[in-house]
Amino acid sequence: MQKQRTGDAKLIQELNRSIILDAIRKYGPVSRSEVAKIIDISPTTVTSAVFDLMDEGLVYEDGVGNSNGGRKPVLLRFNPSAYSIIGVSITNSSIKIADMNLEGVIARKKVYKANEYQGEEMIQFILDVVGQFLATKPNIERCQGISVITPGIVDAKNGLISYNSKLKLYNVPLKELLEEKTNLPTYVDNDANAFVLAENFFGIFSNYKDLLYITIGDGVGSGVMINGAIYRGFIGSSGEIGHTSVVQGGMKCECGNTGCLENYVNWPTIYSKIVSAIMTKKRDTVIKDMVTNDLSKITPSIFVQAITQQDALAIDIMDEVVDHFAVAITNTIHMFNPEVVILSGDIIEGNSLFLQTIHERVKRKVIPILKENINIQSTSLGSEFELLGSAAVILHGKFKFQIS
Ligand SMILES: [Zn+2]
Repeated sequence: MQKQRTGDAKLIQELNRSIILDAIRKYGPVSRSEVAKIIDISPTTVTSAVFDLMDEGLVYEDGVGNSNGGRKPVLLRFNPSAYSIIGVSITNSSIKIADMNLEGVIARKKVYKANEYQGEEMIQFILDVVGQFLATKPNIERCQGISVITPGIVDAKNGLISYNSKLKLYNVPLKELLEEKTNLPTYVDNDANAFVLAENFFGIFSNYKDLLYITIGDGVGSGVMINGAIYRGFIGSSGEIGHTSVVQGGMKCECGNTGCLENYVNWPTIYSKIVSAIMTKKRDTVIKDMVTNDLSKITPSIFVQAITQQDALAIDIMDEVVDHFAVAITNTIHMFNPEVVILSGDIIEGNSLFLQTIHERVKRKVIPILKENINIQSTSLGSEFELLGSAAVILHGKFKFQIS
């Protein structure tokens, strides 16, 4: 978050510029005087900022609007293709890279399999594939920078991957390494933080300021946005909802503690519950038919389909997952009072019964004043959420310049 320094004319000018650009992006085609009205800034300030923005190619004039008696006003539009950005999404198994415009529209994309690389090998792999991708990129001089997102704890200010136990990356100065290699400004952020920025930038939650985003996959991560900015915590480790304790003296977690949420709701746990119910408890389920008795073929989407078909076993397992999840979400809602809780992950996609059940259970648990204000939704980002996340790390900073 940018600090406001009263009297710093240059900073105020930059702030105004971002706010004006954001208004043109959102409301264009729009006239200068309308922009001034919408954001309550003087028309002279708008005119002078628009002059600079047009000079940079970010804004262009496009036709005229209706007049209120006088001269017809010239309308302004945002030009998302004025610059490009490179988005890089690192997961435990692959690296996705895309060349995008300023609205996150993908011009070119590549997915590189990471072959279980870890530590030094992984770092070298990241540097190699980014280098390869950029070698054939046109108009590199119009590139605003590279944005890398990764699971684990990230020191976004210094561009360091502080801690990622699965990839064995500890205190990796990725920003510095990539800037040295590519000469492009580089940003590094945690993936869940990037997704909450993307929901707020591209998604249907752009008018919300207090959001909690939770993603469930092999692990459970979350991003917290407070008053329009990411809440990072002291060393950047905020949002570790997967390691909140939900069972006293429960299952052992890889973090060293016991009873962490992650181990009760992640896909490997759900999968082993399904398999054990079929194999040892001999439970009957449509899942068996769906995978023609080959249990290795059970995927999150099969599980969701079984729930949709009201399969008793799938619904029982979902209930157990929701029970644990509701504890963690209730605790977090009491702590942060978000306007919306956004859920994402394979077991959430197309699973309206999950959303409905968690909503009911959380509503039952929260303090009375919050009962009518529980808003739990599924992600609005679609299948390219990883690349949109990486784009949002740069774009959110550029457009949604908040004064706190
Ligand atoms: Zn843990």
